[in-house]
Amino acid sequence: MYLIFRCDCGRTMYSKEEVARKKCVCGKNLKVKERRILAKTDNAESASQMVRKFQEEKYGGLQFTTADRI
Ligand SMILES: [Zn+2]
Repeated sequence: MYLIFRCDCGRTMYSKEEVARKKCVCGKNLKVKERRILAKTDNAESASQMVRKFQEEKYGGLQFTTADRI
């Protein structure tokens, strides 16, 4: 299984369930088991799609607001 979770910096990422730690691009070393799990998938491909979906939910709205103002 793959777990989808979020770093304190707001970035969504995924890792294999048996991986204990995952390093975020912000430099923070996350303990996977201590994160709140947003979703689970059974393969890496759908995990990365899920991450993209969560990222769009977080940042997509902001981009829309900006475009709307222009
Ligand atoms: Zn981070």
